[in-house]
Amino acid sequence: LTSRLSDPSLLQTRAYLAGDWVEADSGATFPVINPATGDIIAQVADLGRAETARALQAAETAQRDWAALTAKDRAAVLRKWFDLMMANQADLATILTAEMGKPLAEAMGEIAYGASFIEWFAEEGKRVYGETVPSHQPDKRIMVLKQPVGVVGAITPWNFPNAMITRKVGPALAAGCAFVSKPAAETPLSALALAVLAERAGLPKGLLSVIPGLDAPGIGLEFTENPICRKITFTGSTNVGRILLRQAADQVMKCSMELGGNAPFIVFDDADLDAAVDGALASKYRNNGQTCVCANRIYVQAGVYDAFAEKLAAAVEKMQVGDGFEGADLGPLITENAMKKVEEHIADATAKGGTVLTGGKRHARGGLFFEPTIITGATRDMLFSTDETFGPLAPLFKFDTVDDVIELANDTIFGLASYFYARDLGRVYKVAEALEYGIVGVNTGIISTEVAPFGGVKQSGLGREGSRHGIEDFLELKYVCLSV
Ligand code: ADP
Repeated sequence: LTSRLSDPSLLQTRAYLAGDWVEADSGATFPVINPATGDIIAQVADLGRAETARALQAAETAQRDWAALTAKDRAAVLRKWFDLMMANQADLATILTAEMGKPLAEAMGEIAYGASFIEWFAEEGKRVYGETVPSHQPDKRIMVLKQPVGVVGAITPWNFPNAMITRKVGPALAAGCAFVSKPAAETPLSALALAVLAERAGLPKGLLSVIPGLDAPGIGLEFTENPICRKITFTGSTNVGRILLRQAADQVMKCSMELGGNAPFIVFDDADLDAAVDGALASKYRNNGQTCVCANRIYVQAGVYDAFAEKLAAAVEKMQVGDGFEGADLGPLITENAMKKVEEHIADATAKGGTVLTGGKRHARGGLFFEPTIITGATRDMLFSTDETFGPLAPLFKFDTVDDVIELANDTIFGLASYFYARDLGRVYKVAEALEYGIVGVNTGIISTEVAPFGGVKQSGLGREGSRHGIEDFLELKYVCLSV
């Protein structure tokens, strides 16, 4: 991996703790594996609860000085960090593909997307406006101040090793908070590379720590039991989100949660079918189906069902599966367990009457590669109706009426992203309003951008990331009542 980098110093295997690069207290390390080859690409320091406590301690001191700066001064450091990320985009993408497997072109896109949150929130930090409120009494004046929540603990997943961190750290630092990051154990190298650049950008010592470690529950407990930590921000599974919310209850901590999805993708009979195929490909197979906004259930109206299935299959069969460094469209899945889940969903569907239209099994090249798959005749008793596959499997459900499909699409505990293709304007409004989701893509399969609020309703989460709203999750309101 070092030989692929123009700046090998971006590849860090020690933790970034309170402004120093350190090994674990125990000296322990854990391996990082390239899922495309099975090779161990690095041994990374395996930190735990004790080191997390030290990071929080340092963050507390650093946060006070950071919050006392002007927003403009904080923005200048963040802007520099953004510039360094873009100047090192190719190396950051190379590290990301090596540890996570997504195609290099997608990794390049993720670095630009990830960096955009730092740029955006550097700017938004200058616009944290408070309020003056017309008073309720002649001798009183009312002000509302917005102040940083303080020290933030962040836990993030492996599927976007860069962007899932930047969408949290950008608004946190811009608001005047300090940040302790626990990246996923599968992908610590992208997080550590970000810290190398943060240090170069001049981020004050202690304000940011990156704690790689296998003991996620222990680190999570430190975040939720240590009174220094005032907020937890998490992206990952709904199950772990529930655990963290329960733990956070004892300290009544602020929580932001970006949890699982089960995105419906609806194709109405008035849709532009070719556009719908392009959207479905982008939404379903990006990152090999391993995103929480990937289409999980594709509903196609009866009149266009066969035509859509045929066009989608033709497009899917052209996709190349392979190593992310070889220009493939689809990389490997992240682990053997992820492979098993896709197999389980396919076996369940075919046992219940579904038909494999294309794909359906492990790819001939072995390892963690899976054939992009389409299943027709999908029904609501099949596992993927209630459970996210998180892999390259597109089940096609047939529906008749608008009311039917809205009922089907909303029949889930999740409410993150949804998509539909239609041309009739009345239908577009009606369906967009009726979908119980935080995000609705209309005639597009790509919805992520730093300028819009990303987040879910129901059990998909709490809070929003990105947009002018994203910084609010890191701010407290303080009402000041002045007697004159
Ligand atoms: P995924 O399926 O994407 O791995 P998880 O929710 O299991 O989703 O993991 C997301 C993040 O949460 C990872 O960084 C993981 O290490 C961490 N994590 C897993 N279990 C816990 C826990 N009990 N407490 C705190 N963090 C956890």
